[in-house]
Amino acid sequence: MQLWTVNLKKPDWQDAPEAPDVCAALTAGELVAVPTETVYGLAADATNGVACAKIFEAKGRPQFNPLISHVPSLEDARLHGRFDALALRLAEAFWPGPLTLVVPKTEGSPISDMATAGLMTVALRVPAGPVMRFLADRTGKPLAAPSANLSGRISPTRAQDVIDDLGEALSFVVDAGPCRVGIESTIVGIVDGSPRLLRPGGISREEIEDALGTSLLAAAPGMRPDAPAAPGMLASHYAPNASMVLNAREVTQDDALLSFGPERIQGAEHARMEFNLSPEGDLAEAAANLFQGMRTLDASMARTIRVQFIPSFGLGEAINDRLKRAAAPRP
Ligand code: AMP
Ligand code: MG
Repeated sequence: MQLWTVNLKKPDWQDAPEAPDVCAALTAGELVAVPTETVYGLAADATNGVACAKIFEAKGRPQFNPLISHVPSLEDARLHGRFDALALRLAEAFWPGPLTLVVPKTEGSPISDMATAGLMTVALRVPAGPVMRFLADRTGKPLAAPSANLSGRISPTRAQDVIDDLGEALSFVVDAGPCRVGIESTIVGIVDGSPRLLRPGGISREEIEDALGTSLLAAAPGMRPDAPAAPGMLASHYAPNASMVLNAREVTQDDALLSFGPERIQGAEHARMEFNLSPEGDLAEAAANLFQGMRTLDASMARTIRVQFIPSFGLGEAINDRLKRAAAPRP
């Protein structure tokens, strides 16, 4: 595995000697860890079924769970997906950014069935993180990229997290520092004319509903290939080694504490370790720190991580979605 350290503040970062090698690795069907504004992605050429199969193998990811393809622009996205007026409105409002749109796949799209899990729809995103856009643009390939972690475990927001989890499976890790948003993209499906929230994420429901002028519906049955078998039975995901308890009112000296805001819960000062997601109670800051907080507390070897109440509006919806999955019964 080779490392390419990118300093995005330098205007000529794209001219680094590593850039052609990373593009060549992607074109050859190899795996590269690439940062975006959400989390670090495990990227491969989405048009190459064998390359996409390597993603599933490296992550241990179930193959019925389709991948998001990253493209440099809306114009590129329209080669692969059919955008109706509402889908266009969302793309224009939020791209580049942490929004994924699931739309009907075009007949001419070369995106592989391995990436879409054989569905008639395709998940597309133009990320704000410039490295993924640059690589997709320079290679001329849509890049399939789920989070660069073992399936079911905590998502990576720093290059070192990726190296710890998946280093051996990768040709390159591109390090551009910590991810700004820190939580995965919001996924909206617009397949049957009605916009549906398939996964809360880095753009809040409220912002999307404002742009649409209508409410988002819930996912229709069968629309979320990774959905739980029965309502209320959340699939375990984003899981640390420790068990997780949500909405904790108190904490003991054996527990780790994931806190939020200025309020102190009972026993907080005696916790084995504490990580405050945002001492001022800012939900965007909490989202950006969530996975790093879970990783830090897990390293304390506490058996239980207790999590303070976090409100569910704005980015709190995505934070609570991730926390509920992290706390769900493990397989
Ligand atoms: P991630 O695990 O962050 O890579 O996100 C991928 C998720 O996108 C999957 O778990 C699905 O929920 C969703 N997804 C991707 N493609 C589709 C699709 N064609 N239809 C519905 N959901 C999709
Ligand atoms: Mg993931």
